[in-house]
Amino acid sequence: MQFIDLLSQKDRIRTALLHRIESILDSGHFIMGQEVTELESRLATYVGSRYCVSCSSGTDALLMPLLAKGIGPGDCVITTPFTFVATAEVINLVGATPVFVDVCPDTFNINPELIGRAVEEAVEQGMKPKAIIPVDLFGQPADYTRIEAVADAYKLWILEDAAQSFGGSFKGRKAGSFGLAGATSFFPAKPLGCYGDGGAIFTDDEEFDSVLRSIRVHGSGVDKYSNDRIGINGRLDSIQAAVLLEKLTIFDEELQVRQNIADFYSNRLQYKVVVPLIQEHYTSAWAQYSVLAASCEEREHLMQALQKDGIPSMIYYKIPLHLQKAYSSLGYKAGDFPVSEDLSTRIFALPMHPYLKEEEIERICAVLLV
Ligand SMILES: *Cc1c(COP(=O)(O)O)cnc(C)c1O
Repeated sequence: MQFIDLLSQKDRIRTALLHRIESILDSGHFIMGQEVTELESRLATYVGSRYCVSCSSGTDALLMPLLAKGIGPGDCVITTPFTFVATAEVINLVGATPVFVDVCPDTFNINPELIGRAVEEAVEQGMKPKAIIPVDLFGQPADYTRIEAVADAYKLWILEDAAQSFGGSFKGRKAGSFGLAGATSFFPAKPLGCYGDGGAIFTDDEEFDSVLRSIRVHGSGVDKYSNDRIGINGRLDSIQAAVLLEKLTIFDEELQVRQNIADFYSNRLQYKVVVPLIQEHYTSAWAQYSVLAASCEEREHLMQALQKDGIPSMIYYKIPLHLQKAYSSLGYKAGDFPVSEDLSTRIFALPMHPYLKEEEIERICAVLLV
């Protein structure tokens, strides 16, 4: 059994994709070809944003908006310690400081109630808070109603980390459409993934869109050899865009299957472990189906039982970012973010992808329910 099966899906799109790839080979436009333009327009429509800027990874999709806003030394950016490292890493890469805020125990997303205090403490320490990067963890969007209220009060802008939530929604709005910009990832294992690295940024702001397009190609001005600002090589390949265009045609159907699998798991497992809470007005893209064991020992026991039966399971995230070696210089210590720390000792993720068979899900549940 696979944790995420990418091969069954490939068979569904193979013929159409090979046609697209052949025409790219014949055109010779291997980077930023017409597939990229077509993809950006399809993605913008899907998310409901005016602009979509595709790029080379989810990490670059987070980095480019920080560069575009001139975030740098002396500035700080609020995010959570219970996420993949890329969310915080990009803050350091531009020379700013990540300021962590703990998550909610039931949704694992940033706790809006704790943001104000963290901003005030950062100011007391002489930092300049500029932005918030909420993470839509495991596929469920963060609470943008309350985050926007705090952001307005403290004059911060919002960069949505929608790397795991593409396809999810909150109050009828798609993930990626919140804040000044939303960043997503097309890493193969994400809900919408390509066959290499890729990402995209969504925004409604015309000026911001044009700065992002410049940053994507080394800060280019009227052409690539006139440089208006410091940028990066952040372009997307035509072949990756072709993969995404084909996968988009079956994406909504796959999201529905992910939802059905999550419902099946939750029904069976709700009295054995804490199953994920998807709040009213939210839908999840189910990048992960993560549950909480009663204790660290119980998690160990359950994961071992699964492994014995050839069933893979994973831990997202075993070490919260404030306790990672890379972040030791920030001066945080154990006990600073009790919810993230508790989750990291008890959480584990079960296989989740749209090609899981019913008998496989039955088997996974049976092993856990022993
Ligand atoms: C995957 C991921 C990223 C980074 O995306 P890449 O495409 O791998 O660079 C950023 N944030 C979160 C929350 C992620 O899960």
